[in-house]
Amino acid sequence: MAEVLVYVDHVGGAVRKPTLELLTLARRIGEPVAVALGTGAADTAPALAEHGAVKVLTHDAPEYAEYLVVPKVDALQAAYGAVSPAAVLVPSSAEGKEIAARLALRIGSGIITDAIDLEAGDSGPVATQSVFAAAYSTRSRVSRGTPVITVKPNSAAVEPAPAAGAVEPLSVSFSAQATGTKITGRTPRESSGRPELTEAAIVVSGGRGVGGAENFAVVEALADSLGAAVGASRAAVDAGWYPHTNQVGQTGKHVSPQLYIANGISGAIQHRAGMQTSKTIVAVNKDPEAPIFDLVDYGVVGDLFDVVPQLTEEIRTR
Ligand code: FAD
Repeated sequence: MAEVLVYVDHVGGAVRKPTLELLTLARRIGEPVAVALGTGAADTAPALAEHGAVKVLTHDAPEYAEYLVVPKVDALQAAYGAVSPAAVLVPSSAEGKEIAARLALRIGSGIITDAIDLEAGDSGPVATQSVFAAAYSTRSRVSRGTPVITVKPNSAAVEPAPAAGAVEPLSVSFSAQATGTKITGRTPRESSGRPELTEAAIVVSGGRGVGGAENFAVVEALADSLGAAVGASRAAVDAGWYPHTNQVGQTGKHVSPQLYIANGISGAIQHRAGMQTSKTIVAVNKDPEAPIFDLVDYGVVGDLFDVVPQLTEEIRTR
């Protein structure tokens, strides 16, 4: 069976969920060979093996921490040379997309970004993308070289499938450009303790209907009762009620959770562009004509300040 390279996104050896989702998709098209780089790379092996990696190629060097993406591209290219895979899968983070694009250029391959599904095809893997503000789905495949595909978080279920997960060191020699850009400092963002917006299984969002920064406590309380991330419409962000890092939409983040709850959000096309692929959509809006109701699975016509606290209370008592 053909091997499929899977680039591992991890923090100090803890594998992030989008990589485990990639392993589910990789198994549809071949045998996953994972590539883990940097501090804790070898510690990723048990989780990767549990989710279907037949082999884990690891490499650690100070370059991965000190420099931006080029050292990682060098390593992924080394893994590509060592394995000759049928496809290369990378999580669709900002960094992942840059790594994938640089690798595709180097190996002369086509690239598909932001896939939301992947299946085996007669002439190579077929990727589904959501385009034009999620109004259409397209299916495409790479016709030149080895397909390099980035996949959005929450595109597949994490499915354990124990495999060998044999750990092998990867031999990497860094290119001349590897040290061209250096990280000179990092400012950690204050953590809310909530899941990362793009990876969360549940997102609870607030819009202009929330009416003020302090009122977002109502949205946050519902989010916390569900273990969810908090999102916001651009109107709420532009008003200064919630940080831009939490904006969902065309000029914000694209989310695709199992459950998206929109509170006081009208459903403008630019907002839909960032959340329309959510599996189940719920909206609370006091205007029965609000466009958001055209796309919901469940809609509640009502004042969010009546509805949301009751919902939070009900969830907490369960
Ligand atoms: P509104 O459209 O004002 O809707 C507020 C809703 O709250 C209304 O439906 C109202 O009935 C309801 N409401 C009011 N009070 C209550 C209450 N007490 N209880 C229940 N419901 C209540 N927008 C984004 O969100 N993300 C983007 O990334 C984005 N990018 C953009 C890019 C461009 C180039 C442009 C031009 C626009 C972009 N926008 C984006 C803006 C977008 O067009 C809308 O203006 C925005 O989404 C509206 O936000 P909203 O739904 O919160 O506000």
